[in-house]
Amino acid sequence: MSSSAVRLGTVVRAAVRQGLLPAWAPVAGLLDVQGIRTAAAALREAFEEAGAAREATLHAFAVKAASLVPVLRLLAEEGLGAEVASPGELALARAARVDPARIVLDSPVKTTAELREALALGVAVNSDSREELARLDGLLREAAEPPRSPLGVRVNPQVGGGSIDALSTATDTSKFGVALRDDGARAWLVRAFAERPWLTRLHAHVGSQGCPLELMAAGVRAAYELAEEVNDAVGRRQVTTLDIGGGLPVNFASDDVTPTFRAYARLLADAAPGLFDGRYGLVTEFGRALLAKSGLVLARVEYTKTAGGRRIAVTHAGAQVATRTVFAPASWPLRVAAFDALGRPKTGPPVEQDVAGPCCFAGDVVAMGRPLPLLEAGDHVALLDTGAYYFSNHYAYNSLPRPGVYGYARAEEESDGVRFATVRAPQTLSELVAESGGAHAADLSALG
Ligand SMILES: *Cc1c(COP(=O)(O)O)cnc(C)c1O
Repeated sequence: MSSSAVRLGTVVRAAVRQGLLPAWAPVAGLLDVQGIRTAAAALREAFEEAGAAREATLHAFAVKAASLVPVLRLLAEEGLGAEVASPGELALARAARVDPARIVLDSPVKTTAELREALALGVAVNSDSREELARLDGLLREAAEPPRSPLGVRVNPQVGGGSIDALSTATDTSKFGVALRDDGARAWLVRAFAERPWLTRLHAHVGSQGCPLELMAAGVRAAYELAEEVNDAVGRRQVTTLDIGGGLPVNFASDDVTPTFRAYARLLADAAPGLFDGRYGLVTEFGRALLAKSGLVLARVEYTKTAGGRRIAVTHAGAQVATRTVFAPASWPLRVAAFDALGRPKTGPPVEQDVAGPCCFAGDVVAMGRPLPLLEAGDHVALLDTGAYYFSNHYAYNSLPRPGVYGYARAEEESDGVRFATVRAPQTLSELVAESGGAHAADLSALG
C-alpha cells in the first residue's frame, strides 16, 4: 500500500461532507488516483523484471474496463496505451489524446469504415477472422503506401474456458479469433502470413475473470509457438510482436492484490521463455486488474424493511451500476461496507441483511443475507473493488441516470484530507430525456 493511500473511511466521510451525493444524485463512483498510478507502475515493473524491454513493450489498457476519458488520460501519463473494440472506445482514447501509435483495435465486428480509419490513423489492428483479413487485403490494395498500422491476427488457442463461461474466449467454439486447432487452421495461418509480409503480429486473449493463470499462459504460449512456426516457414522474423491480451483476475474477497502482475509475468516467462529474450515486442491489454481495486460505488440507503423475517436495506446501487453482480451473483460477489449518514464507518453487531438496489425487478440485490451492522435510512453503503466494469459500464434499466464519477487523492491542506475531481458529472434528467427520444415526442403519432 502506497504511503499516500487514502483510507476508505476517510474517503467516504469526505465524499459525503463535500456533497458528492446530493439529494438528486444518491449514488456515485469514486476512483483512487494514486491507486491507479500504483497499479500501472506494478504492471510496467512486472514485465520489465521478467525481461521485457521497456521500449519494445506496449501496455494497452482495455478501454471497456473503464471507459472514462480522464482515466485514459491518467493511464497515458503513466505510459499506457489503449485497447479499443468499438468506434466509441476509439473516440474516447483519441479524446484522451492517446497517441494513435499506442492504440490497438480489437473487435470481432470492425466495419470497412472502421478499418479504413484505423489504417489512416496508424492504429494497430488485430484481424479477428479470415473474412476480415480478406477485407484488409482489399483496403491495402487500394492504398498508395504500405500501412503504418501494425497489423496482426487474433487466434483462438482453444485451450479451454475458466469458471465464468461468458468471459472465456478460448473455448473450442468461442466467437473470437481464428480457431487455431480446427482442421487445417494452422497451415492456413502460416500461409496467410507468408502471403502477407505486412502481417507482423499475433494476438491471443484467453479470457477474463475466472481464468486460471496457467490457462492464460498456455494460450500465450500457443501464440508464441505459432509465431516461431511462421518465422521459420518464411525464413525471417516477420512476426515481430506478440499481443498477449489481458485477463488477469481480481480478488474481490479482500484488500489483497492477488494474483499480481509480477506472478503472471513470471509464469509467462516460465511457460514461454522466448517471449522475453528480446526477439519479440510485447503488447498487453489488461483492464480489470488495473482499475478494479481503485474504485468503489457509494450509495445512500433510502429505506429499510423486513419481509418474511428478512431484513432488507433498499439502496440506490443495484443493477444499473453492478449489473454482473445482480445477474450472476455467484460469479461476481462484491464486498459491501456500511457507513452512517455522515459517512463514518458503522459499528454494531453484524446482522444478516439483503442490500437491494433501486431497480424494479425482484433480483435487483447486490448482496444477500450479508452480515453487516444494521443499516438504517440515510446510511451509506460502499461496493468495493468496483473500479472496472461497474459504474463506468452503466446499464440504463428503469431510466436510472448514469451516476457521477469522481477521482480522489490525499490532500493535506483540505480539512478532510481528501480532494476530489470530477471524472464524469452525474447525468441530468434533461439529458436522460434527450437520450430517450425527447426530441421526437410526437413523431410516432404523426406516422399514422
Ligand atoms: C476484455 C478484453 C481485455 C481485457 O480483459 P481484462 O479481464 O479486463 O483484463 C483485453 N483484451 C481483449 C481482446 C478483451 O476483449
